[in-house]
Amino acid sequence: MARKRILVVEDEEDIQELVRFNLAKEGYEITLVESGEEGLESARADKPDLVVLDLMLPGMDGLDVCRQLKNDPQTQHIPVVMLTAKGEESDIVVGLELGADDYITKPFSPKVLAARLKTVLRRKARERPADQSVIQTGDLLVDPQRHIVTVKNKPVDLTATEFRLLHFLARRPGWVFTRQQIVDAVRGPDYAVTERSVDVQLVGLRRKLGSSADCIETIRGIGYRFRE
Ligand code: CA
Repeated sequence: MARKRILVVEDEEDIQELVRFNLAKEGYEITLVESGEEGLESARADKPDLVVLDLMLPGMDGLDVCRQLKNDPQTQHIPVVMLTAKGEESDIVVGLELGADDYITKPFSPKVLAARLKTVLRRKARERPADQSVIQTGDLLVDPQRHIVTVKNKPVDLTATEFRLLHFLARRPGWVFTRQQIVDAVRGPDYAVTERSVDVQLVGLRRKLGSSADCIETIRGIGYRFRE
């Protein structure tokens, strides 16, 4: 198999070195650039398998780079993992809504970095958003075609919105979704869903899921994720 090519957009030397050394050790081919402008140029020219994107860059910032990558049909399929400083939850939310695929908070360990990139690459390879197949994880079973949810083989009675919410999260385990992304995904012609009501729906959903409630994880300040 060809080596995966990773474009790293980062201006801090320490982090450049850490990332370069550890990703090379994992067998990735690394291209390192220091500004958003160079990052865009390189992504468009070389179409890497993944972009690691620092958000705090001189000149064009990371969110702008992400927006441009995800708006360009030539580059929008390339997964983006954001590097963010602690306490930048609002930037993470914006980045995810622009289409970034994951984020890593600095400081991070090389092991975490390598594991996250591997996961994103693997997810991207098996992504089937319109998938209607049965999802089973632990005691929980979600059958989208028959519109049935069971916990320990006992049926769980969900509202239409709760069902859509659960199925949306469960078919992409490991992905973090912001409240706005969830609203966009589960909103139907007959449902008024707001960001605040997502939290309320989640409380109800978790209560009904009982012993399987912890399959849905709250990511503080950012959103929700179905456990991998
Ligand atoms: Ca930086």
